[in-house]
Amino acid sequence: MRKLVFATHNAHKLREVQELLAGKYELLSLTDIGCHDEIPETADTLEGNALIKARFVQEHYGYDVFADDTGLEVDSLGGAPGVYSARYAGPQKRSEDNIKKLLSELEGQSNKKARFRTSIALIIDKDEWLFDGIVEGQITTAPAGSEGFGYDPVFRPKGYQVTFAEMSSIEKNSISHRGRAVQKLVEFLSTRNESLEKRD
Ligand code: IMP
Repeated sequence: MRKLVFATHNAHKLREVQELLAGKYELLSLTDIGCHDEIPETADTLEGNALIKARFVQEHYGYDVFADDTGLEVDSLGGAPGVYSARYAGPQKRSEDNIKKLLSELEGQSNKKARFRTSIALIIDKDEWLFDGIVEGQITTAPAGSEGFGYDPVFRPKGYQVTFAEMSSIEKNSISHRGRAVQKLVEFLSTRNESLEKRD
């Protein structure tokens, strides 16, 4: 089976994608390939950071690879925190601090429109592709729910009365930014795999 690296140490993310690619690719994490380097995320776009991570693995370890990067874009904050979502309230990258800062920035603001955006960069045989996934929604006035992570307790997707943190992971993944980007990646890989098998 073809090996493919997902440039993450997050076992939860890896399992999610592995299930979708079952039988088609053997997915390896950064931990699996012995990559413990701190990969610098120095780009000012999500696509740029996803590409940096994927290229790093391809160049240093020689594997086919994909990497993801996600940001929360709030309209009335000019798209912030965006690519800086993880470290919005400081380098400690604490979700509670980020949420606190976000709610205080939005106090008294009537426009609470926001979206999560995920960008995935894929490199196979040194060719590069990008896939994106977006979910529109609103920032709430107070946190609600205990599922998920990051900004989930204050993000209510469009068409729903609950936050991501009040949904099951299955429900969230079916409509989420990352879920949508991953679906595009999986469709692409499945189709590509079939045409490679026909050729072999
Ligand atoms: P990453 O690129 O997946 O590491 O995401 C960057 C940051 O965006 C994380 O540290 C979280 O703060 C936030 N984030 C990413 N995905 C989600 C999500 O699904 N829900 C809530 N916050 C998220």
